[in-house]
Amino acid sequence: MKRLENKVAFVTGGSRGMGAAISKRLASEGASVVLTYSKSPDKAEAVASEIKNNGGRALAIEADSADPQAVINAVNQTVAEFGKVDIIVNNAGIYIGKVFEEHTLDDYEQLMGVNVRAVYAASLAAVKYLPAGGRIITIGSNMADNAVSQQTTLYTMSKSALSGFTRGLARDLGPKGITVNLVQPGPINTDMNPSDTELADFLRGRMALAEYGTGDDVAGLVTFLASEEGKFITGTAITIDGGLNA
Ligand code: NDP
Repeated sequence: MKRLENKVAFVTGGSRGMGAAISKRLASEGASVVLTYSKSPDKAEAVASEIKNNGGRALAIEADSADPQAVINAVNQTVAEFGKVDIIVNNAGIYIGKVFEEHTLDDYEQLMGVNVRAVYAASLAAVKYLPAGGRIITIGSNMADNAVSQQTTLYTMSKSALSGFTRGLARDLGPKGITVNLVQPGPINTDMNPSDTELADFLRGRMALAEYGTGDDVAGLVTFLASEEGKFITGTAITIDGGLNA
């Protein structure tokens, strides 16, 4: 018996990086998976095709996380297509790195829109449908607890907001038997944070395990939280960062 048989999962930003790995792993455990994308339709379709070719059920939906209504529509479409939603994974995120003096209010709107407002919107839409045993899992960052380097102020602020969101919502949804958790990755080799840069060398020098993680490392943790084995974990942040924050 697979761990997520008969479950329906909704993953934002499933076209590349961690979101693609999470989508595939949830599907390999038996979940039907809806994954959203904004700029990478071909990659999103490739993830959905791979899942279907392996005998699973998947659907890729264009939904720009900068547009909260698009995210809400995508959750509703998930239920229209698959009849329910059990697990939502708020994964889509962006990083804007520059000296603080060069930041603009547009940067704030853009980054907070994708990294925070979309998480709120997807969760709000999903709460109408999530059953007892439902899961809300959000991808934050180890940087919520340790800014690590310069030029991270806006990103770090956005990821810290997710900590409060997770704790509050866990209390609100606990009586319904729904868990709410935050996964805080550290350096993971993706387009957002490739492992072959100067920054990567700097980060490796500060990690207990001087190696970048993979999307699969994060997908394993997300799958555990989504499964029955994770049922007593709620309202918390689990950091998966190779010991960068140790
Ligand atoms: P990538 O940049 O590699 O991939 C981002 C994914 O999110 C893509 O599928 C992309 O889809 C999607 N996405 C981005 N913007 C939007 C949007 N506006 N609407 C819908 N989808 C969007 O990032 P990672 O996989 O590295 O990051 C995943 C999450 O993990 C993010 O929340 C990030 O902040 C967090 N994180 C990453 C770390 C790392 O080291 N990589 C460390 C800590 C946290 P598309 O191309 O279709 O737009």
